[in-house]
Amino acid sequence: RRPARLRRDLVQPGGTAPCCHEHNPSIRVLQWNILAQALGEGKDGFIRCPLDALNWQERKYLILEEIVTHRPDILCLQEVDHFYDTFEPIMTSLGYHGSFLPKPWSPCLDVEQNNGPDGCALFYRSSRFSLQAVSHLRLSAMMLPTNQVAIVQTLGCRATGRRLCVAVTHLKARSGWERLRSAQGADLLQSLRRITSRGGGQSEAASASVPLVVCGDFNAEPSEDVYRRFSSSPLGLNSAYKLLSSDGQTEPAYTTWKIRPSGESCSTLDYIWYSHDALRVDRLLNIPTEEQIGPDRLPSYHYPSDHLSLLCDISFREEPHRLS
Ligand code: NDP
Ligand code: CA
Repeated sequence: RRPARLRRDLVQPGGTAPCCHEHNPSIRVLQWNILAQALGEGKDGFIRCPLDALNWQERKYLILEEIVTHRPDILCLQEVDHFYDTFEPIMTSLGYHGSFLPKPWSPCLDVEQNNGPDGCALFYRSSRFSLQAVSHLRLSAMMLPTNQVAIVQTLGCRATGRRLCVAVTHLKARSGWERLRSAQGADLLQSLRRITSRGGGQSEAASASVPLVVCGDFNAEPSEDVYRRFSSSPLGLNSAYKLLSSDGQTEPAYTTWKIRPSGESCSTLDYIWYSHDALRVDRLLNIPTEEQIGPDRLPSYHYPSDHLSLLCDISFREEPHRLS
């Protein structure tokens, strides 16, 4: 029997008029912690999720269906432990190019019959973008290398001739590690400043920095220090999903919802950050209701990960000097 899917609508954030000039088509960004196969089966302890619903040979189709349904231009994934045997070949055949960066000591490797380390993956649609530069970062905290990573790609948009910098990361999990997450965020922001300011062209000083999108499982609620660092950084970043709220200032109530032996955990940990001066958010995929998610929460036969996918359409704001 084919399980029912979570129905989610694309909505326009309040107060924005649709912007879809043919010379400035929006860019669809999908952010998703897809749940590493080895962790889901071997470590997470999702006590209300039948083991059957975690079977990779079926679960992978639910993940791929979500991707193919939305056809993102940019795809940011965490907990990928099937890159070489699944996502790379399939995404390549769908016209994407991507890179993968495993965690140095992935907890997947502790699980018997694992499929290799998990890590971050970043794909772009090749008909939309060309790759100008890529950085594979191991995040540091107080100068010391950590077990968390980030990928940063500088892309050239074929439709507009503009540049876009895209990053994906997965920060350290669990409570008690707030200071480490904050330090990892500070390190990532510092790398992003360096990478986006190369942007330049002719005169370094006068050139604007490259517009930026940062996607990730930050493992941090909006009350944490690392969230504050991102929302107040000199990069001028805003969190896209705040725009779903009526005041435009409130994050969704949850982006992950699961039940472990230690109890139920419903929290907002995943974000899409964007440069608010250079980019605008045209549409967002709404968050399913508690009823849609169901009493056993996630993952389930209906949804393949304990984290919800986040999706938005963004477009370049007009540059004043290009208006002439
Ligand atoms: P993290 O603490 O960042 O978490 C790793 C994964 O565990 C994440 O994907 C996270 O998912 C998930 N997770 C979060 N909370 C729980 C929970 N309550 N129960 C089960 N899983 C959870 O991992 P690190 O990168 O710091 O690595 C930690 C593990 O890696 C160690 O426990 C060890 O097994 C292994 N390791 C081994 C080393 C070695 O020398 N061999 C060195 C370092 C680590 P989400 O992000 O979705 O919350
Ligand atoms: Ca996880």
